[in-house]
Amino acid sequence: MVRTRYAPSPTGFMHIGNLRTALYEYLIAKHENGAFILRIEDTDQQRYVEGAEDAILETLRLTGLNYDEGPGIGGDYGPYIQSQRKADYLPPALRLIESGQAYYCFCTKQRLSSLADERGIMKYDRYCLHLPKEEIASRILSEPYVIRQLIPEGKTTFHDEVYGDITIDNNELEDQILLKSDGMPTYNFANVIDDHAMAITHIARGCEYLTSTPKYTLLYEALGWPLPRFVHLPLLQNDAGQKLGKRNGAISIPQLIDMGFLPEAIVNYAALLGWSPPDNKEIFTLDELTQVFDATNISKSPSTYDVKKLTWVNGEHVKALPPEVFAAMALPYLQAAVKKPGTDYNRLAVITQPRVSLVNECGELVDFIDALPEYDIELYTHKKMKTNPDIARETLKLAISSLETLCDWNHTAIGEAVAIKAEENGYTKGQILWPLRTALSGKPSTPCGATEIAELLGKDESLQRLAIGLKKLEV
Ligand code: GLU
Repeated sequence: MVRTRYAPSPTGFMHIGNLRTALYEYLIAKHENGAFILRIEDTDQQRYVEGAEDAILETLRLTGLNYDEGPGIGGDYGPYIQSQRKADYLPPALRLIESGQAYYCFCTKQRLSSLADERGIMKYDRYCLHLPKEEIASRILSEPYVIRQLIPEGKTTFHDEVYGDITIDNNELEDQILLKSDGMPTYNFANVIDDHAMAITHIARGCEYLTSTPKYTLLYEALGWPLPRFVHLPLLQNDAGQKLGKRNGAISIPQLIDMGFLPEAIVNYAALLGWSPPDNKEIFTLDELTQVFDATNISKSPSTYDVKKLTWVNGEHVKALPPEVFAAMALPYLQAAVKKPGTDYNRLAVITQPRVSLVNECGELVDFIDALPEYDIELYTHKKMKTNPDIARETLKLAISSLETLCDWNHTAIGEAVAIKAEENGYTKGQILWPLRTALSGKPSTPCGATEIAELLGKDESLQRLAIGLKKLEV
C-alpha cells in the first residue's frame, strides 16, 4: 500500500510552496488509494512558533487535503506529533551505537565553535569517537551528551524519482547529531525513524533536502531498513527569481482565501507548480487531480509563483461554480456595491459570474447602477462601431425619442425600439448601442450590453442618464 506523509515543522504559516508539498504527497497516495499522513515535526523547540500547528491543520482542512490516520480514539484522531514520540528515538540510536555506526559526544559548545573555519563552517573532528569505553560509561551518567551518526568511508548513492541517481562522497558529510542533549531527536534522525515506523513508501519534499538524503540513506542502511522512494520537488521561486518563502513574497493560504481565491483553485494552481498535466489540460478539481497525477511528470526545473496565472485559474473555477453557489458568495459584494431598492441580485450574479476572476470583483462591475460615474466624452468614440461624439449626439437623441414612449421596459423591447430608430435614420445598430451603453454606464466596459443595462436601471433612471449624456455632447 502506498503511504505518504506531509511532515511540516510548526515554524509558521503554510504558503503555496508548503501546500504544493502536502498536495503532491496527498496525490501520490490517493492516486493509488493509499494513505496520507500528517506528522508535525516539532523536535526543534527553539524554532517552534505558537499557533503554527493550528495554521497547518486549518490550511489542510480548507483545501480538503484530509489526512487519514493518527493517534487518537476512533475517528477522532489528530496528527502524529514528534515531541510526543520522544521515547521511540532512543532505542534505534542505541542500536546504532552498539553496531558502531553512532557514538556519544560530550563536546561543549565552546569546543565545537573553536572548530569553525573562517567562514563559520564547522565539521566535527570526531574527538569523542576515540574516547575509551570506560570513560564514556561514566561520563554518560554525569554529563550532557549527544549521539552522533558515524559516517562511513566511501560513496553513497540514492535514487530520486525526479532527479535520478545521485552519488556523493561521504567525506562531504558530517557526523551529524541524531539525539540532542535534551533527549530530543534532531529532525534528520526523527524523520528516518518515523518514516520507517509509519511504513512510509514515498517521501515528497523540497529539493533543498536532496543534500541531506545521503545521510538518511546511510541511516536506513545502518538500521537495515528498506529505503522509501524519494520525490524531491523543484525549487519554487518568486517573480524576482528568489526562493519563495515567508520573507519573500509568499502569503499564507488562508490569506489568499480571504483575498478571494477559491481553495479549489489554489489547490489546482499548486499542482501545476512543477508538474505537467497530460493533454495540456490545466483546470482540475482535487478529484480529477487524484485520477491523473503521476509523479513521473514532475519537472526538475524551478517553477515560479505567478499570481496572474493563479488569478486565471481562479477565474476558471469561478465560472464553473454552480450559479446558486456563485450567487450566494457574490451577494455581500453585490449588496455593498448596489443599494438601489428592488435590485435583483440573482440577476446581477448571473451577469457577473462569467466576467470575474475573483468573486469579490463582482461589485465593481455593477457599481454604476447606483451612481453614474464621471466620464469623458471620448468614451463615445469606438472605431469598430464607427462612432464618435458627433454621431453619438445624433443617435442618443434618436434613442431618447424611441424610449420615451416605450411602455414595455425590457431589454428585448428596448433593443428593438432603438434598432428600428437607428435604421430609419441611416445608422447601424452599433452606432446607437455604443453611445447608449456609454451614457447609461459611464464606463468603458460593462458586464452586459446597453439594453440589459437600461432594463436594470429602469426607465426613469435610464432617460435621466441619456439626458445627461446628451448634455455633455452638446456643450
Ligand atoms: N519538517 C521538514 C520541514 O518542515 C520536512 C522535511 C521532510 O518532508 O522530510 O521542512
